Amino acid sequence: MTVEEFINQFYKPGDTIFPDAVQRKVHISKKKAYQELEALSPDMLRRVYMIRCPHCGSYLNDRYKTIRDIPKEAECFGCDTEFPVDLGQNVIVVYKRK
Ligand SMILES: [Zn+2]
Repeated sequence: MTVEEFINQFYKPGDTIFPDAVQRKVHISKKKAYQELEALSPDMLRRVYMIRCPHCGSYLNDRYKTIRDIPKEAECFGCDTEFPVDLGQNVIVVYKRK
């Protein structure tokens, strides 16, 4: 199965696609998953950023279109902790199906 087939089969418009899921289901490396998703992104997907709590590992609900939209601090409702957002550590790129 290709990444495109996987997305067509399992995701509806508006759904969020985690590269980790693609990596597992299509049996490719994480790097390859990102490359394939990037290649599909202009037409089929839109890149969005999410914050992951460094304390409990939950993904926060907010999605950001650009790096500049990401706040400097965030609050996790999973573990009720406020933390400074480190772009290298706490932010992940996911894709939204168009
Ligand atoms: Zn948390």
